[in-house]
Amino acid sequence: MRYSLGSLLLNAFTGQRHWNPAWRSPDPKPHYDVLIVGGGGHGLATAHYLAKHHQVGRIAVLEKGYVGSGNVGRNTTLIRSNYLLPGNTAFYELSLKLWEGLEQDINFNAMVSQRGIINLCHSDGQRDAYMRRGNAMHLNGVDAEWLDAEAVRALLPQFNYDNARFPIKGGLMQRRGGTVRHDAVAWGYARAASQRGVDIIQHCEVTGLKIENGMVKGVETTRGPIEAGKVALAGAGHSSQLAAMAELRLPIESHVLQAFVSEAIKPVIDHVVTFGAGHFYVSQSDKGGLVFGGDIDGYNSYAQRGNLPVVEDVMESAMALWPALGRLRVLRSWGGVMDMSMDGSPIIDHTPIENLYLNAGWCYGGFKATPGSGYCFAHLIAKDEAHPTAQQLRLDRFQTGALIDEKGVGAQPNLH
Ligand SMILES: Cc1cc2nc3c(=O)[nH]c(=O)nc-3n(C[C@H](O)[C@H](O)[C@H](O)COP(=O)(O)OP(=O)(O)OC[C@H]3O[C@@H](n4cnc5c(N)ncnc54)[C@H](O)[C@@H]3O)c2cc1C
Repeated sequence: MRYSLGSLLLNAFTGQRHWNPAWRSPDPKPHYDVLIVGGGGHGLATAHYLAKHHQVGRIAVLEKGYVGSGNVGRNTTLIRSNYLLPGNTAFYELSLKLWEGLEQDINFNAMVSQRGIINLCHSDGQRDAYMRRGNAMHLNGVDAEWLDAEAVRALLPQFNYDNARFPIKGGLMQRRGGTVRHDAVAWGYARAASQRGVDIIQHCEVTGLKIENGMVKGVETTRGPIEAGKVALAGAGHSSQLAAMAELRLPIESHVLQAFVSEAIKPVIDHVVTFGAGHFYVSQSDKGGLVFGGDIDGYNSYAQRGNLPVVEDVMESAMALWPALGRLRVLRSWGGVMDMSMDGSPIIDHTPIENLYLNAGWCYGGFKATPGSGYCFAHLIAKDEAHPTAQQLRLDRFQTGALIDEKGVGAQPNLH
C-alpha cells in the first residue's frame, strides 16, 4: 500500500481498518543470495538499495532484536556533510543528497528537516580550523557559510554573549544540515525493502559464520542455520563480535554514547548548534523537547546506558553556553553502543574472507551516513568493487597508514 492523501482519507472515513503492517515478517528460508546481518539503519538501507538498483536474487536482513532497537533509534538525529578530508567529503555529501530525496524514494515521512547546523568557535585557532573546513567544503561543491560573532548573535540570541567563559567568536554554518526522525528512517527503509521482496527477519541473532576454504557459506542463527551466497555485516556497535566469528580482529572498540531529552517547551532554537569549547550539541524536536548530547563515556562497553561523569560534563557545557537551560528539567536519557574506529572514519569494504563484506566503524556519526552507506555498501556487494565515493573507506588503511583522521587527534577512539 502506498502512503498518500488518498490512503489517509480512506482510512479516516473507514475507522482506520485498511492499514497493512508496514513490512512482512516471514520465517527465514534455508538459502539467500545475500544475507545482511544487522537490521539497523545501515543494514536496512543496504537491503533497500540492493533490491532497488541491483539484481542479486533473494535478500534477507537478520536482526537480533527488533527493527530500530539499535543506534538507528537511539541517536540524536543530526545530519550534515561538513567534512574536511577527501575520503569523507564526497561520501557524506552523497549521503546528504540521498537524504534530500529520501521521503519520495521510500514513500515514508522521515521528517527530514534541513534547519541548518552551526558549529560555534571560541578561539582564533578554532576559527582558522573551521574556515579551512568551510573552504574545503566549497572546493568540493558543498554549501558552507561563515558567520561572524554578530551574525551568530542575531541567529542565536539566547546564548551567553556578555559574560561567557568561552566567548563566541563565530560559527561555521551548513544550511543543508539538520535533523531526521531517526526511527522513521528504520521503519521507512524496512517497509521499502520489504515491498521489493527483501525478507526482514527480526529476533534472529547470528551466532556464527559458516566458512569453508576461506569463503563464507552461510550463518548460524538462533532460528537455525541459513546458507548464503554473500554475507554482509552491518552490526554497528557489535561489529567486533561479528567479525570475531570469522576470526577477524577489527581496528574498532565499542564505547557507550549517551543522549538526553528535556521536557517539552515552546520553540527556542531553530537550528542544530554545537558548542566548540566543550562536548555539547543541541537541537529541538517537533514535540518541543531539547535533544542534546556530548562525548562518549570513554570506556569499552556493550551497555545501552551510561554513567554520571559524562552526564555532568554535558550539563556543565550546556550551562556554559546557554545558562537559561539550568531552569529546564531533563526528561530522559539513554545510551547506545558505538563502533569507534581508530581514525574516527568508517569502513565499507571486503574482508579477507571471500564473499564476506564489512560495514562498520561509524563512531558517533553514522546516522547521517545511513543512506550513503547503504547505497555504497549495496554497490560493493553487488559489483564486488567499491563505489567511487567510498573508495578510501578501506579496511587495510589501518595497515597501510592511509588513515582518514578528520580531527587530527591520532589513533585514539576515545578522542574521535
Ligand atoms: C546517543 C547517540 C547519539 C548519536 N547521534 C548521532 C547523530 O546525531 N548523528 C549521526 O550521524 N550519528 C549519531 N549517532 C551514531 C549513529 O546512531 C550510529 O553510528 C548508526 O546508527 C549506526 O548504524 P546502524 O543504524 O546500522 O546501527 P544499529 O541501529 O545499532 O544497527 C545494528 C544492528 O545490528 C544488530 N545486531 C548486532 N549483532 C547482531 C547479531 N549477532 N545478529 C543479528 N543482529 C545483530 C543490532 O541489534 C542492531 O539493531 C548517535 C548514536 C548514539 C548512541
